[in-house]
Amino acid sequence: MSAIIIDGKAISLKVREEVRPRAAGLRARGIIPCLAVILVGEDPASLSYVTAKEKALAEAEMASRDFRLPASTTEKELLTLINRLNADVNVHGILVQLPLPAHISEERVITAIDPQKDVDGFHPVSVGNMVLGRPGFLPCTPHGVLVLLRELKIPTAGAHAVVLGRSNIVGKPLANLLTRRDVNATVTICHTGTKDLSAITRQADILIAAVGRAGLVTADMVKEGAAVIDVGVNRVTDPSAKKGYWLRGDVDYEAVAEKAAYITPVPGGVGPMTIAMLLQNVVEAAERFAESRGRFAGSAEFSC
Ligand code: NAP
Repeated sequence: MSAIIIDGKAISLKVREEVRPRAAGLRARGIIPCLAVILVGEDPASLSYVTAKEKALAEAEMASRDFRLPASTTEKELLTLINRLNADVNVHGILVQLPLPAHISEERVITAIDPQKDVDGFHPVSVGNMVLGRPGFLPCTPHGVLVLLRELKIPTAGAHAVVLGRSNIVGKPLANLLTRRDVNATVTICHTGTKDLSAITRQADILIAAVGRAGLVTADMVKEGAAVIDVGVNRVTDPSAKKGYWLRGDVDYEAVAEKAAYITPVPGGVGPMTIAMLLQNVVEAAERFAESRGRFAGSAEFSC
Protein backbone atom coordinates (compact mmCIF):
# COMPACT_ATOMS: atom_id res chain seq x y z
CA MET A 1 0.00 0.00 0.00
CA SER A 2 1.12 3.53 -0.66
CA ALA A 3 -0.48 6.14 1.53
CA ILE A 4 -2.55 9.12 0.47
CA ILE A 5 -0.48 12.13 1.45
CA ILE A 6 -2.57 14.56 3.43
CA ASP A 7 -1.96 18.00 2.00
CA GLY A 8 -2.13 20.17 5.10
CA LYS A 9 -1.09 23.20 3.15
CA ALA A 10 -4.06 22.97 0.76
CA ILE A 11 -6.53 22.29 3.58
CA SER A 12 -5.11 25.14 5.63
CA LEU A 13 -5.59 27.50 2.68
CA LYS A 14 -9.23 26.47 2.55
CA VAL A 15 -9.63 27.36 6.25
CA ARG A 16 -7.84 30.63 5.66
CA GLU A 17 -10.16 31.45 2.75
CA GLU A 18 -13.12 30.92 5.09
CA VAL A 19 -11.59 33.30 7.63
CA ARG A 20 -10.96 36.07 5.09
CA PRO A 21 -14.59 37.25 4.56
CA ARG A 22 -15.19 37.17 8.33
CA ALA A 23 -12.22 39.49 8.82
CA ALA A 24 -13.49 41.71 6.00
CA GLY A 25 -16.91 41.88 7.67
CA LEU A 26 -15.29 43.08 10.88
CA ARG A 27 -13.16 45.64 9.07
CA ALA A 28 -16.34 47.00 7.47
CA ARG A 29 -17.56 47.62 11.02
CA GLY A 30 -14.35 49.43 11.92
CA ILE A 31 -12.79 46.49 13.78
CA ILE A 32 -9.47 45.15 12.57
CA PRO A 33 -8.87 41.74 14.14
CA CYS A 34 -5.59 42.08 15.96
CA LEU A 35 -3.27 39.56 17.59
CA ALA A 36 -0.51 40.56 19.99
CA VAL A 37 2.42 38.21 19.48
CA ILE A 38 4.96 38.03 22.28
CA LEU A 39 8.32 36.32 21.88
CA VAL A 40 10.76 36.26 24.78
CA GLY A 41 14.33 35.40 23.82
CA GLU A 42 15.83 34.37 20.51
CA ASP A 43 15.10 30.69 20.09
CA PRO A 44 15.42 30.25 16.29
CA ALA A 45 12.52 27.79 15.99
CA SER A 46 10.22 30.07 18.03
CA LEU A 47 11.27 33.04 15.92
CA SER A 48 10.38 31.20 12.72
CA TYR A 49 6.97 30.18 14.17
CA VAL A 50 6.01 33.73 15.19
CA THR A 51 7.23 35.11 11.86
CA ALA A 52 5.04 32.60 10.01
CA LYS A 53 2.04 33.50 12.19
CA GLU A 54 2.50 37.23 11.61
CA LYS A 55 2.86 36.68 7.86
CA ALA A 56 -0.37 34.67 7.80
CA LEU A 57 -2.21 37.40 9.73
CA ALA A 58 -1.02 40.03 7.24
CA GLU A 59 -2.14 37.85 4.31
CA ALA A 60 -5.58 37.56 5.90
CA GLU A 61 -5.62 41.36 6.28
CA MET A 62 -5.58 41.10 10.03
CA ALA A 63 -3.23 43.02 12.27
CA SER A 64 -0.49 41.86 14.57
CA ARG A 65 1.43 43.70 17.23
CA ASP A 66 4.84 42.24 17.71
CA PHE A 67 6.65 42.23 21.00
CA ARG A 68 10.19 40.86 20.74
CA LEU A 69 11.51 40.86 24.27
CA PRO A 70 15.04 40.00 25.43
CA ALA A 71 15.63 36.69 27.21
CA SER A 72 16.43 38.72 30.33
CA THR A 73 12.80 39.97 30.57
CA THR A 74 11.46 39.34 34.06
CA GLU A 75 8.21 37.54 34.75
CA LYS A 76 6.86 40.74 36.30
CA GLU A 77 7.63 42.72 33.13
CA LEU A 78 5.92 40.10 30.99
CA LEU A 79 2.86 40.01 33.26
CA THR A 80 2.66 43.82 33.15
CA LEU A 81 2.65 43.70 29.35
CA ILE A 82 -0.06 41.04 29.34
CA ASN A 83 -2.23 43.10 31.70
CA ARG A 84 -1.83 46.10 29.40
CA LEU A 85 -2.84 44.02 26.37
CA ASN A 86 -5.77 42.50 28.28
CA ALA A 87 -7.11 46.04 28.76
CA ASP A 88 -6.47 47.17 25.20
CA VAL A 89 -9.75 47.11 23.25
CA ASN A 90 -7.87 47.10 19.95
CA VAL A 91 -6.17 43.79 20.74
CA HIS A 92 -8.45 40.75 20.36
CA GLY A 93 -5.99 37.94 20.90
CA ILE A 94 -2.77 37.44 22.84
CA LEU A 95 -0.21 34.80 21.94
CA VAL A 96 2.85 34.14 24.06
CA GLN A 97 5.18 31.89 22.10
CA LEU A 98 6.32 28.90 24.15
CA PRO A 99 8.68 27.79 25.53
CA LEU A 100 9.53 30.73 27.79
CA PRO A 101 12.96 31.14 29.43
CA ALA A 102 13.28 28.96 32.52
CA HIS A 103 13.04 31.86 34.99
CA ILE A 104 9.47 32.65 33.85
CA SER A 105 6.54 30.50 34.93
CA GLU A 106 4.57 29.46 31.84
CA GLU A 107 1.64 28.62 34.06
CA ARG A 108 1.47 32.10 35.60
CA VAL A 109 1.85 33.75 32.21
CA ILE A 110 -0.82 31.65 30.50
CA THR A 111 -3.21 32.17 33.40
CA ALA A 112 -2.68 35.96 33.24
CA ILE A 113 -4.12 36.15 29.71
CA ASP A 114 -7.77 37.23 29.61
CA PRO A 115 -9.65 34.04 28.56
CA GLN A 116 -11.56 36.20 26.04
CA LYS A 117 -8.22 36.78 24.30
CA ASP A 118 -6.77 33.31 24.80
CA VAL A 119 -6.59 32.37 21.11
CA ASP A 120 -4.04 29.63 21.81
CA GLY A 121 -6.62 27.90 23.99
CA PHE A 122 -4.11 27.18 26.78
CA HIS A 123 -5.77 29.11 29.65
CA PRO A 124 -7.36 26.85 32.31
CA VAL A 125 -10.75 28.40 31.47
CA SER A 126 -10.34 27.46 27.79
CA VAL A 127 -9.17 23.97 28.75
CA GLY A 128 -12.17 23.58 31.07
CA ASN A 129 -14.56 24.71 28.37
CA MET A 130 -13.01 22.27 25.93
CA VAL A 131 -13.28 19.34 28.33
CA LEU A 132 -16.89 20.22 29.16
CA GLY A 133 -17.74 20.68 25.49
CA ARG A 134 -18.70 24.32 26.02
CA PRO A 135 -18.00 27.09 23.52
CA GLY A 136 -14.48 28.47 23.79
CA PHE A 137 -11.18 28.60 21.98
CA LEU A 138 -9.82 25.22 20.97
CA PRO A 139 -6.04 24.77 20.96
CA CYS A 140 -4.83 25.26 17.41
CA THR A 141 -2.74 22.15 16.72
CA PRO A 142 -5.25 19.57 18.08
CA HIS A 143 -8.10 21.40 16.36
CA GLY A 144 -6.11 21.42 13.12
CA VAL A 145 -5.63 17.64 13.36
CA LEU A 146 -9.39 17.15 13.73
CA VAL A 147 -10.02 19.31 10.68
CA LEU A 148 -7.55 17.20 8.66
CA LEU A 149 -9.33 13.99 9.66
CA ARG A 150 -12.70 15.52 8.78
CA GLU A 151 -11.56 16.94 5.44
CA LEU A 152 -10.12 13.58 4.37
CA LYS A 153 -13.30 11.86 5.61
CA ILE A 154 -11.17 9.48 7.64
CA PRO A 155 -13.66 7.48 9.73
CA THR A 156 -13.28 8.33 13.41
CA ALA A 157 -16.45 6.91 14.96
CA GLY A 158 -15.52 3.69 16.70
CA ALA A 159 -11.94 3.96 15.45
CA HIS A 160 -9.10 3.26 17.85
CA ALA A 161 -7.01 6.43 18.00
CA VAL A 162 -3.62 6.18 19.65
CA VAL A 163 -2.03 9.47 20.68
CA LEU A 164 1.71 9.45 21.38
CA GLY A 165 2.45 12.27 23.83
CA ARG A 166 0.56 13.84 26.71
CA SER A 167 1.65 17.48 26.62
CA ASN A 168 -0.85 20.15 27.65
CA ILE A 169 -0.69 21.77 24.24
CA VAL A 170 -0.98 18.75 21.94
CA GLY A 171 -1.39 15.24 23.35
CA LYS A 172 -3.90 15.82 26.16
CA PRO A 173 -6.27 18.18 24.32
CA LEU A 174 -6.12 16.06 21.19
CA ALA A 175 -7.02 12.92 23.10
CA ASN A 176 -9.89 14.81 24.68
CA LEU A 177 -11.25 16.17 21.40
CA LEU A 178 -11.10 12.73 19.80
CA THR A 179 -13.54 11.46 22.41
CA ARG A 180 -16.17 14.09 21.63
CA ARG A 181 -19.42 12.54 20.52
CA ASP A 182 -19.18 14.00 17.03
CA VAL A 183 -15.74 12.38 16.63
CA ASN A 184 -16.41 9.29 18.73
CA ALA A 185 -13.02 7.64 18.64
CA THR A 186 -11.78 5.31 21.35
CA VAL A 187 -8.53 6.79 22.57
CA THR A 188 -5.32 5.45 24.07
CA ILE A 189 -2.67 7.92 25.23
CA CYS A 190 0.99 6.84 25.32
CA HIS A 191 3.99 8.46 26.99
CA THR A 192 7.42 7.55 28.32
CA GLY A 193 5.82 5.37 30.98
CA THR A 194 4.02 3.23 28.40
CA LYS A 195 5.09 -0.40 28.26
CA ASP A 196 5.47 -2.09 24.88
CA LEU A 197 4.62 0.97 22.81
CA SER A 198 4.64 -0.94 19.51
CA ALA A 199 2.01 -3.40 20.72
CA ILE A 200 -0.33 -0.46 21.31
CA THR A 201 0.51 1.59 18.22
CA ARG A 202 -0.07 -1.49 16.03
CA GLN A 203 -3.70 -1.47 17.19
CA ALA A 204 -4.26 2.09 16.00
CA ASP A 205 -6.65 2.87 13.18
CA ILE A 206 -5.54 6.46 13.67
CA LEU A 207 -2.02 6.98 14.99
CA ILE A 208 -1.05 10.49 16.05
CA ALA A 209 2.57 11.19 16.99
CA ALA A 210 3.37 14.25 19.12
CA VAL A 211 6.54 13.28 20.93
CA GLY A 212 9.32 15.44 19.48
CA ARG A 213 11.60 12.49 18.60
CA ALA A 214 12.60 12.33 14.94
CA GLY A 215 11.63 9.04 13.30
CA LEU A 216 10.41 7.39 16.52
CA VAL A 217 7.46 5.78 14.74
CA THR A 218 8.80 3.10 12.45
CA ALA A 219 6.87 1.00 9.94
CA ASP A 220 6.75 -2.07 12.22
CA MET A 221 4.79 0.05 14.75
CA VAL A 222 2.01 0.83 12.28
CA LYS A 223 -1.02 -1.21 11.32
CA GLU A 224 -1.54 -1.76 7.61
CA GLY A 225 -4.06 0.82 6.36
CA ALA A 226 -3.84 3.15 9.37
CA ALA A 227 -4.12 6.94 9.17
CA VAL A 228 -0.88 8.41 10.52
CA ILE A 229 -0.79 12.02 11.64
CA ASP A 230 2.66 13.39 12.41
CA VAL A 231 2.61 16.43 14.67
CA GLY A 232 6.34 16.33 15.42
CA VAL A 233 8.69 18.99 14.14
CA ASN A 234 12.33 18.14 14.79
CA ARG A 235 15.46 19.84 13.54
CA VAL A 236 17.91 17.17 12.42
CA THR A 237 21.41 18.58 11.95
CA ASP A 238 22.99 17.97 8.56
CA PRO A 239 25.85 20.19 7.35
CA SER A 240 24.90 19.35 3.73
CA ALA A 241 21.44 20.92 4.20
CA LYS A 242 21.08 24.55 3.10
CA LYS A 243 20.10 25.69 6.60
CA GLY A 244 22.35 23.16 8.34
CA TYR A 245 19.39 21.02 9.36
CA TRP A 246 16.33 19.23 8.02
CA LEU A 247 12.86 19.39 9.50
CA ARG A 248 11.71 15.87 10.31
CA GLY A 249 8.57 14.53 11.91
CA ASP A 250 8.22 11.89 14.60
CA VAL A 251 7.40 9.33 11.93
CA ASP A 252 9.81 7.47 9.65
CA TYR A 253 7.92 8.92 6.72
CA GLU A 254 9.17 6.93 3.71
CA ALA A 255 8.76 3.51 5.30
CA VAL A 256 5.46 4.27 7.05
CA ALA A 257 3.97 5.75 3.87
CA GLU A 258 4.32 2.29 2.30
CA LYS A 259 2.08 0.78 4.97
CA ALA A 260 -0.39 3.46 6.01
CA ALA A 261 -3.53 4.49 4.13
CA TYR A 262 -3.04 8.18 4.97
CA ILE A 263 -0.03 10.12 6.18
CA THR A 264 0.85 13.75 6.87
CA PRO A 265 4.23 15.01 5.64
CA VAL A 266 6.58 17.20 7.67
CA PRO A 267 6.69 19.97 6.72
CA GLY A 268 3.35 20.60 4.98
CA GLY A 269 1.02 18.53 7.17
CA VAL A 270 -0.09 19.62 10.61
CA GLY A 271 2.07 22.77 10.80
CA PRO A 272 0.08 24.89 8.33
CA MET A 273 -3.15 23.80 10.05
CA THR A 274 -1.93 25.18 13.37
CA ILE A 275 -1.55 28.62 11.80
CA ALA A 276 -4.91 28.43 10.03
CA MET A 277 -6.73 27.51 13.25
CA LEU A 278 -4.99 30.38 15.02
CA LEU A 279 -6.34 32.81 12.40
CA GLN A 280 -9.78 31.31 12.92
CA ASN A 281 -9.51 31.88 16.68
CA VAL A 282 -8.35 35.48 16.21
CA VAL A 283 -11.27 36.33 13.95
CA GLU A 284 -13.61 34.61 16.39
CA ALA A 285 -12.20 36.63 19.29
CA ALA A 286 -12.74 39.83 17.32
CA GLU A 287 -16.29 38.77 16.40
CA ARG A 288 -17.08 38.11 20.05
CA PHE A 289 -15.67 41.51 20.93
CA ALA A 290 -17.83 43.15 18.23
CA GLU A 291 -20.87 41.27 19.51
CA SER A 292 -20.30 42.32 23.12
CA ARG A 293 -19.73 45.91 22.07
CA GLY A 294 -23.01 45.86 20.10
CA ARG A 295 -24.79 44.38 23.11
CA PHE A 296 -23.46 47.08 25.44
CA ALA A 297 -24.26 49.86 22.95
CA GLY A 298 -27.87 48.67 22.78
CA SER A 299 -28.32 47.92 26.47
CA ALA A 300 -30.51 49.97 28.81
CA GLU A 301 -27.54 51.39 30.76
CA PHE A 302 -26.00 52.90 27.68
CA SER A 303 -29.02 53.88 25.65
CA CYS A 304 -30.36 56.71 27.79
P1 NAP B 1 6.47 17.80 24.77
O1 NAP B 1 5.83 18.76 25.67
O2 NAP B 1 7.94 17.59 24.83
O3 NAP B 1 5.75 16.39 25.00
C1 NAP B 1 6.24 15.23 24.39
C2 NAP B 1 5.44 14.05 24.85
O4 NAP B 1 5.93 12.90 24.18
C3 NAP B 1 5.53 13.79 26.34
O5 NAP B 1 4.25 13.48 26.84
C4 NAP B 1 6.47 12.59 26.44
O6 NAP B 1 6.17 11.71 27.51
C5 NAP B 1 6.19 11.88 25.14
N1 NAP B 1 7.36 11.10 24.70
C6 NAP B 1 8.60 11.54 24.47
N2 NAP B 1 9.39 10.53 24.08
C7 NAP B 1 8.62 9.42 24.07
C8 NAP B 1 8.86 8.06 23.77
N3 NAP B 1 10.07 7.62 23.40
N4 NAP B 1 7.84 7.21 23.89
C9 NAP B 1 6.60 7.61 24.26
N5 NAP B 1 6.31 8.89 24.55
C10 NAP B 1 7.31 9.78 24.45
O7 NAP B 1 6.17 18.12 23.24
P2 NAP B 1 4.90 18.85 22.55
O8 NAP B 1 4.94 20.28 22.85
O9 NAP B 1 3.66 18.08 22.77
O10 NAP B 1 5.36 18.67 21.02
C11 NAP B 1 5.53 17.41 20.45
C12 NAP B 1 6.08 17.59 19.06
O11 NAP B 1 5.13 18.29 18.28
C13 NAP B 1 7.36 18.42 18.99
O12 NAP B 1 8.17 17.93 17.93
C14 NAP B 1 6.86 19.81 18.63
O13 NAP B 1 7.83 20.58 17.94
C15 NAP B 1 5.71 19.46 17.72
N6 NAP B 1 4.66 20.48 17.63
C16 NAP B 1 4.24 20.77 16.39
C17 NAP B 1 3.23 21.68 16.22
C18 NAP B 1 2.77 21.96 14.83
O14 NAP B 1 2.10 22.94 14.62
N7 NAP B 1 3.08 21.09 13.88
C19 NAP B 1 2.67 22.32 17.31
C20 NAP B 1 3.10 21.97 18.59
C21 NAP B 1 4.10 21.04 18.74
P3 NAP B 1 6.29 12.13 29.06
O15 NAP B 1 5.07 12.98 29.34
O16 NAP B 1 6.26 10.85 29.78
O17 NAP B 1 7.56 12.90 29.18
